[in-house]
Amino acid sequence: MILPIYLYDHPVLRQVAEPITDLTPEIRRLAQDMLETMYNAHGVGLAANQVGVTRRLIVVDIGEDEGMREPLILLNPTIEAFSEETVEMEEGCLSLPELREIVVRPAAVQVHYVDFRGHECHIAADGLLARVLQHEIDHLNGVYFTDRLSPVRRLLLRRKLERIARGEVLPPYPVVLGHAVVEQRSEML
Ligand SMILES: [Zn+2]
Repeated sequence: MILPIYLYDHPVLRQVAEPITDLTPEIRRLAQDMLETMYNAHGVGLAANQVGVTRRLIVVDIGEDEGMREPLILLNPTIEAFSEETVEMEEGCLSLPELREIVVRPAAVQVHYVDFRGHECHIAADGLLARVLQHEIDHLNGVYFTDRLSPVRRLLLRRKLERIARGEVLPPYPVVLGHAVVEQRSEML
């Protein structure tokens, strides 16, 4: 089922998500729905907060071109190590439509998580995968990529962010603004 994606600045996106203690049928269903939602929106990653659920769950699929054969479902992901080397990379976010900015982050990370079968896993990532993992884990802690920008850059983005919050920038996928579900129908585009 495709879930509506919560847009800036819904309060759920500022909440710190709770750890998952049991792989319940509801959590499995949520993970599948999040993958469907992410693909529908042409995203490469999605955090549970973005569909209004404050649990520590993210899904990632950067695609076969980037060497990923199947999507990653990560429960309770934590960054346990990161490189001192940093890189600049442009980021976007399904909760911040039409906004893309260069963000500086560690080039490589090691992430600890529990997989869909309940196994403890570690993944070492660099390039795009390292970037997406850091972006999505930030969401679980109530952090937007725009929080990682310089104060001057953030000031320059203020108007764009306000337009998103007012519902003036609607993407072509179902979204939640405040407490309303808004679906932009393709024939209206
Ligand atoms: Zn995002």
